[in-house]
Amino acid sequence: MSDKPKINIVWFKRDLRLSDHEPLKLAQDSGLPILLLYVFEPELLNDAHYSERHWRFVTESLLDMNRRLPGKVSVANDEIVNVLNKISNHYQIDCLFSHEETGLANTYQRDKAVARWAGNQKVNWCERQTGAVIRPCNNRDDWDKQWKSVMRAEIEPILVKNLNLVYLDFDTSQLPAVWKNRDLRFQLGGSKAGWRVLDDFFESRGKDYHWFISKPLQSRTSCSRMSPYLAWGNISLREMYQHVLSHWNRKGWRRSLVALTSRLHWHCHFIQKFESESTMQFDHINAGYQRIPYRENRQAEDDLLAWKRGQTGYPLIDACMRCLQETGYINFRMRAMLVSFLCHHLQIDWRRGVAHLANLFLDFEPGIHYAQFQMQAGVTGTNTIRIYNPTKQAKEQDPDGTFIRRWCPEIAALPDALLFEPWLLTSMEELMYEIRLGGTYPRPIVDVTTSYREASELLWSWRKRDEVKAEAKRIVRRHVRTKN
Ligand SMILES: Cc1cc2nc3c(=O)[nH]c(=O)nc-3n(C[C@H](O)[C@H](O)[C@H](O)COP(=O)(O)OP(=O)(O)OC[C@H]3O[C@@H](n4cnc5c(N)ncnc54)[C@H](O)[C@@H]3O)c2cc1C
Repeated sequence: MSDKPKINIVWFKRDLRLSDHEPLKLAQDSGLPILLLYVFEPELLNDAHYSERHWRFVTESLLDMNRRLPGKVSVANDEIVNVLNKISNHYQIDCLFSHEETGLANTYQRDKAVARWAGNQKVNWCERQTGAVIRPCNNRDDWDKQWKSVMRAEIEPILVKNLNLVYLDFDTSQLPAVWKNRDLRFQLGGSKAGWRVLDDFFESRGKDYHWFISKPLQSRTSCSRMSPYLAWGNISLREMYQHVLSHWNRKGWRRSLVALTSRLHWHCHFIQKFESESTMQFDHINAGYQRIPYRENRQAEDDLLAWKRGQTGYPLIDACMRCLQETGYINFRMRAMLVSFLCHHLQIDWRRGVAHLANLFLDFEPGIHYAQFQMQAGVTGTNTIRIYNPTKQAKEQDPDGTFIRRWCPEIAALPDALLFEPWLLTSMEELMYEIRLGGTYPRPIVDVTTSYREASELLWSWRKRDEVKAEAKRIVRRHVRTKN
């Protein structure tokens, strides 16, 4: 018999909140003292998908939790198994509570190590389902019904003030101090900030959500902007869904709310895809595309770099990439257009750009990100092929050029007629507007009329291949509902 005090652990990952949290609720009900744990894992800190903006958001989320707790979250900076071993030196761990994580391959490997550790130490690891994402899920029969029942289920209250907490001080001196400095360019992390953003959406800015959803500028205020709060779990999808339903009968809001709730449904739908087929982190989900050709020469490397830096010579592409670098957010349509430009116009493998955008998206969510990336790259064989023309998009979605002028100041002086196609400037106009093409602003790195035709021919010819069609059938069987 151990003479160490017996405790339970709640291990927080992408569920940084104190409400609608089943692992925390179970730990509280168990009656034992609880150690709340967050671990900054070196494996993830060094992963190319993540950057300072993510870890600052996590730090802010933890600070927010601490403000509400009658104690503190114990924060460590080590691999999780080492941390658990250290805790075992002080306490007898009865149960480790956590949510299931549908993450990158390294978190899956880490979870296997935790399962081995728990088995060896005779610790019960109790994992609970995240949202409506089922593990395992071999087909989607009844999945929609399950989604609805999870989202509509009553939320069990947690009496945070009554939590009986223990705390362990770990060495976190290696963690960068700048994560504690507020960076006003990005959304503030934490449940409190998340609820304020959602309340603000329902004040008025969300009323025309569906009108502005594709506009790079207006979407920044008319979309919910809840994605980082959902991705890092500051607010559960169920909490958001039920909050949306509570506004269902507001006059004039119905179209917006219908559009919003279908996206909340997609949130879990895409993560479920990744959960069921996580190899999509590395390979085309449709194996029929295995040998689809991509450019792999020196010029392609330069083009990739120009795309990453927002220096392609296409104003809307450059504005989106620069905006993303500076703020961590762009809307859905612009994300799709960036991927389309990379994969279709530049004909570069989506795998060369997927971590770059993850690194910039404050809301990086592996399941949504990989599934959407492949969809926009046209390698699923099941979705409509969309090749966006960046100039047409600019004229339609940013007609007065405000967004482009904000993020491409070097061409801001151009009149609307020239702003979207600066390559048409005569040498006289270059002098007038003090723009030097190929100098102050790049010439287009590709001719999108030609690249559109080539990409279209390539994608449609591959779409007709037997191996692509056979795989498409398999994908539909696995990831699309057959009943209801
Ligand atoms: C290439 C690409 C990569 C993407 N990567 C991510 C990602 O890493 N993380 C992420 O949260 N979203 C991702 N999206 C989906 C979508 O662009 C964002 O969820 C949305 O722009 C976030 O803004 P919002 O919170 O204002 O969304 P709203 O329009 O207000 O929607 C509310 C919520 O619904 C969910 N949602 C909205 N659109 C989608 C969608 N198309 N698919 C799945 N869920 C959706 C999100 O959780 C979002 O926060 C990606 C889209 C593309 C095309």
